[in-house]
Amino acid sequence: MPLRDPGLLKEANLVGGQWIAAGDNAIAVTNPATGAVLGRVPSLGAAEAEAAIEAARDAQIGWAAKTAKERSVILRRWYELVVENADDLAEILTLEQGKPLAEARGEILYGASFIEWFAEEARRVYGDVIPGHQADKRIVVIKQPVGVVAAITPWNFPNAMITRKVAPALAAGCSIVLKPASQTPFSAIALAVLAERAGLPAGLFSVVTGSARAIGAVMTGSQIVRKLTFTGSTEIGIELMRQCAPTVKKLALELGGNAPFIVFDDADLDAAVEGAIISKFRNNGQTCVCANRLYVQAGVYDAFAQKLAEALSKLKVGNGLEESTVFGPLIDDAAVAKVEEHIADAMGKGASLVSGGKRHALGGTFFEPTVLTGVTGTMAIAREETFGPVAPLFRFKEDSEVVAAANDTEFGLASYFYTKDLARAWKVGEALEYGMVGINTGLISTAEAPFGGVKLSGLGREGSRYGIEEFTEMKYLCFGGI
Ligand code: ADP
Repeated sequence: MPLRDPGLLKEANLVGGQWIAAGDNAIAVTNPATGAVLGRVPSLGAAEAEAAIEAARDAQIGWAAKTAKERSVILRRWYELVVENADDLAEILTLEQGKPLAEARGEILYGASFIEWFAEEARRVYGDVIPGHQADKRIVVIKQPVGVVAAITPWNFPNAMITRKVAPALAAGCSIVLKPASQTPFSAIALAVLAERAGLPAGLFSVVTGSARAIGAVMTGSQIVRKLTFTGSTEIGIELMRQCAPTVKKLALELGGNAPFIVFDDADLDAAVEGAIISKFRNNGQTCVCANRLYVQAGVYDAFAQKLAEALSKLKVGNGLEESTVFGPLIDDAAVAKVEEHIADAMGKGASLVSGGKRHALGGTFFEPTVLTGVTGTMAIAREETFGPVAPLFRFKEDSEVVAAANDTEFGLASYFYTKDLARAWKVGEALEYGMVGINTGLISTAEAPFGGVKLSGLGREGSRYGIEEFTEMKYLCFGGI
């Protein structure tokens, strides 16, 4: 379907308020469902990243001086434009990322909800008045924007991972330079087009596509940039953290996960199957909060495996633009290779296939939704994030055993469990070493709640009232001689 507004698929970058068109060495962006080239974006590098950062520094001063209400009004207008253009934005997202159109539309509205939320929160950045330690003194704490922010985002949520960073940064009075993933830059550029239309002053939000290494080096090394916010792999997150050390930047890192999904004997099994499908198979298993290890208690293990396989068999794999598609293609060949590796490793060590297990007849990067039973802790799938449509089922007997197994990972982002027992819900919820716990639900992300992880899953929280705090510094003012 042609876009209602072709201007949203823009083959250019917004750098310091100027649009730079894709030149000769542009990056081709392909549709993972067909392999067709969708368009080209500029291949920029260090010089443009520097220019964007300098423009961000200059623009930020005036932006921070505006009232919160003035910033809020522009953000609100941006939110409205995103919602008004949701169909086009969803189509662009599906074309470059592959997820089904309905899911893409869901992401656009979810992404927009962060702009809406932070437009509101902009006006609620409160400080403190603290009773003084001496009779003639008063202690006041104010919150000020950190200044220039750099953001690096991944391909799995080409819209929402951006709004979740850009909206709170702008709301707090910061400016921001973004490097989106090269696989999915058009969604990011479309957001910049709409931000400009919403009246966001030039220079506050730049999008720079190109060499991750070159742009990342400038962002992390810059004295002007005071905060780096990154969503992506733990490996790159650690590298960026190291690069940020000499300039002592504030850091927000949303890194990998290895989410456990636990089904206790007393769970509502149908609800657990539904939750598992949402949590494990959303975006074809390509989210950092996707269930990676499904622990099922012995009494319901076989029934759960059967119900899950049966439910999956009814869901269609196909091009995301087709109405009834639930599972699109994987992002690229490397993603398919990892899924195949994990399945082969598990099967080689004694796991059994209940359904799926191989590339889909559609070819390309399409893969069959897969259920494996007899999975144990010795298999690679127990340790590493698969990031694909494979549900490995581990069998357990005792609560303490499953909590220990669930926590036996270097990651700590999302976790899930299903039970009807209130005491168990509290105890297990408290014992899981994760930033987020879904209890009787497989879907936990929302603008109102703090999203983030512990251990190697990262630093900081996004969304919620805490999400804006991350873009502020507190300043202590000591009033004497009173
Ligand atoms: P994924 O496996 O999700 O692609 P990555 O961590 O490789 O995760 O990529 C996430 C984002 O980080 C992308 O925008 C990518 O271009 C960027 N990136 C990758 N390597 C580097 C690097 N060395 N410096 C800065 N950014 C990088």
